[in-house]
Amino acid sequence: MVNNLGICNNCGAFLDSQACPNCETANSVRTFNIYDENVKWAVRYGYQYRKKAVLRAEQKEGSLHFCLHDASEVLLWIGGAILSGITWDLLKLGVKKLFAALHDEGRYDSLDKETQEVLSEEKKLYEFYEYVEEYKQGFINISEEEYKYIEEEMFADFQSEEIGKLGPEKYFILSRKEMIEVHKVAYEKSQIKINRIVRRERR
Ligand SMILES: [Zn+2]
Repeated sequence: MVNNLGICNNCGAFLDSQACPNCETANSVRTFNIYDENVKWAVRYGYQYRKKAVLRAEQKEGSLHFCLHDASEVLLWIGGAILSGITWDLLKLGVKKLFAALHDEGRYDSLDKETQEVLSEEKKLYEFYEYVEEYKQGFINISEEEYKYIEEEMFADFQSEEIGKLGPEKYFILSRKEMIEVHKVAYEKSQIKINRIVRRERR
């Protein structure tokens, strides 16, 4: 897979070029970059952690915090397409084609379960579509409890990212006072990052 991908507005084919091989007529291809930070965040916080948050709220899962694995390229691909603004019908069509292509290329079986479900079950795909759309609109239709959980996970990710920039050899020789300062700065940077990605009205 390549970075810049697109989906044909005419037939729904997922493409890695600017022209659709299926459509003879010139058509508009919607492009997106699956390695864009916003695509990653939409899938990770808008979908993966949202699902965890819903399960927790329904008390089907304990209160433990998890560090989730990174989303597959296929999920990033679909997430990128949704952020680019395609309709549900076009997405459904596109994912059907993607599903068939992955099967033909013998790559379907090596995908993780989460990705396989989104590719093969319309209900799961719709949930993915809905959650990414809701993320895009600033986490709408989410309860305070669910949002709070996702926000905590964002803080944890962004703080360890900031602290990680120091490198372990530096971090472990810090004095207690310096360590507190490092955490404070990481916290503030995380807050800025969260405010940037979540355009949500604070209630
Ligand atoms: Zn086409």
